[in-house]
Amino acid sequence: MIIPSKLSVSQTTIFTEMSALAAKHNALNLGQGFPDYDPPAELLDLVKKYIDNHKHQYAPMAGVPALREMLAQKVAKSYDCCVNSESEITITAGATQAIYTAIAALVHPGDEVIVFEPSYDSYRPAIEIAGGKTVPYTMDGPEFKINWYLVSAMIRPETRMIIINTPHNPTGTILKEDDLIHLSRLVRDTDIIILSDEVYEHLVFDGHRHESVLLYPELFQRSIAVFSFGKTYHCTGWKVGYCVAPEYLMNEFRKVHQWNVFSVNSFIQYAMADFMATPDHYLLLGQYYQAKRDYFLDCMSGSGFKPLKTEGTFFQVCDYSTISDRDDVDFARQLTTNHGVACIPISVFYSAKRQDKLIRFCFAKTESMLMAAGKILGKIH
Ligand code: PMP
Ligand code: GLN
Repeated sequence: MIIPSKLSVSQTTIFTEMSALAAKHNALNLGQGFPDYDPPAELLDLVKKYIDNHKHQYAPMAGVPALREMLAQKVAKSYDCCVNSESEITITAGATQAIYTAIAALVHPGDEVIVFEPSYDSYRPAIEIAGGKTVPYTMDGPEFKINWYLVSAMIRPETRMIIINTPHNPTGTILKEDDLIHLSRLVRDTDIIILSDEVYEHLVFDGHRHESVLLYPELFQRSIAVFSFGKTYHCTGWKVGYCVAPEYLMNEFRKVHQWNVFSVNSFIQYAMADFMATPDHYLLLGQYYQAKRDYFLDCMSGSGFKPLKTEGTFFQVCDYSTISDRDDVDFARQLTTNHGVACIPISVFYSAKRQDKLIRFCFAKTESMLMAAGKILGKIH
């Protein structure tokens, strides 16, 4: 039987491929973005507590109320944005599900969605499964800036959604106040929805402010903002996240959410609610990862890799053009198999072929791991 594929050009993700290659060659895995250390002990204790307290049955569809209430307080404090925890916050199975569900709920066949490339790899397949069309805006290194006048020229009656991501994976850049103001003006008087991927909201460095859509009341009225506990609490494998949106958008989101996952595992939600009572757990994260970025750069100093500016996330992009002429996918494989350090090539996050010589390292790693990788990289010229 021959069945038509809904994602005919879809391949195994680069993260899966590079992690498998790293494992096969026993390489230091600075590819796929995840910490090589555990979540805080206090959080693990709370999870154990709620396992023992029999929190094993279905949580409410939108999430455990105590957690949603905590998140509403956090959003009010962090972004001066007053949301109703009942109707404007939903707990999701990671940010990936929130993104997928938002697109499934709001993008209709024939709709266009503007994405900024290089872009996180889950957006395009979700758009295509919904019958939408991805319209890429190309950002070029080393700055990966957006020219909003060019974006405005891409807007058509079919444009249903614009997806932004700040801090940005894979480049480590962040949007600034100016960007959000331009975006806000651009969509005024349109029916365009903003899907704002803010999973690295707390990983912002050098005194910058995270520019959430939640900070801009007019923009928030047409936005779904997506977050992930995985990044904030070093637990990417738990796959728990949440999204915040005005009620009319959240109603549409939940119509799909209830048929998609219905609800998210319960004991982790109770544990997160308690753990979030101490805001320092997330407020100190920027400092924590800034120190890791600086340590990693120190460890690899003297190498032929030229680091680009990282303003947020736990990723460091490096230019290897003085080291090799190979394309970045080839180079990343070679670095993994021949030198024992895995990374991620940047070109895979573009829809068009690229000649850039850029790779991404994840520095959410212990100092010993960063030092070992830095030593190897430091000798490559
Ligand atoms: N968006 C971006 C930009 C990401 O980097 C990631 C994960 N690394 C996600 C979404 C997905 O997050 P989660 O693991 O919570 O699904
Ligand atoms: N977001 C992670 C990264 O950028 C990977 C997530 C995944 O493996 N799907 O590396």
